[in-house]
Amino acid sequence: MPEGDSLFIAARNVGAVLTGRTVTRFESPLPELKEQGLEGHVVSAVRAQGKHLVIDFDDGRSFLSHLRMQGNWFAREKVALSQRQLEKTARDVSWDDENTTLIIETESSVAVLTRGAIAVLDTREKIERRLSSLGPDLLSPDYDQAEVMARLREHPDTTIAEALMLQSIVAGIGNVYKSEILFLEKVSPFLKVDELDDATLERLLKRGRDLMRRNLQRGARRTTFGTFAGQNSYVYNRSGEHCLKCDTKVRMLRQGNLQRSTYFCPECQHVES
Ligand SMILES: [Zn+2]
Repeated sequence: MPEGDSLFIAARNVGAVLTGRTVTRFESPLPELKEQGLEGHVVSAVRAQGKHLVIDFDDGRSFLSHLRMQGNWFAREKVALSQRQLEKTARDVSWDDENTTLIIETESSVAVLTRGAIAVLDTREKIERRLSSLGPDLLSPDYDQAEVMARLREHPDTTIAEALMLQSIVAGIGNVYKSEILFLEKVSPFLKVDELDDATLERLLKRGRDLMRRNLQRGARRTTFGTFAGQNSYVYNRSGEHCLKCDTKVRMLRQGNLQRSTYFCPECQHVES
């Protein structure tokens, strides 16, 4: 199912059971969402914004969530729940519950977010600021490549490996895809954005979109880079092993302020040693 559609449906379903109702329980295993004092406040709106689902409360705060690949919103009137489902949603959420992200209950309804990729409660202003600074989502049906190109060009001195992961440029590319995209397009992760022409940047983005779409369709977790020799990835996490294309040893270096790992083939990607 296209992500945009499922998000729109989720917002409609969650909105139908929460909007205008008073929160009786707001519970999460995430420390930053604990004891937020939302009980007694009214849900003023539930909306899909970009790839995010936003729940507004009447005290000026909003809850921001992103589903990414695995996340899901379950929303029902309590009368429509079976006894087993009622017991399940009424249970306490333990700190090591890796499935549940958030449970919101009202007198008559319940909404449960599982495996949310982003789950943030903050003032409406801060949530809006965060949303407006996000670059276009690579997987969105209305993905705007021209916008991403413009944002890339605003970071001429940033290495391409770091730039691909800046969510303010393009949202969606993580550490695994970063290395795989650069390898498949034979681009050195250490070149600066300024050193790459438009055609190369566009190729990288297209490759990222194709890889991620394919992965989404198969519903598998990062297992679709290459069917090549039964490997899950060409270079990611293969430091010291032989490149699947040229037999040179794959290397890993850490880059940027966050010291994120980048895997590459020095030969295929023309990296000077
Ligand atoms: Zn190679």
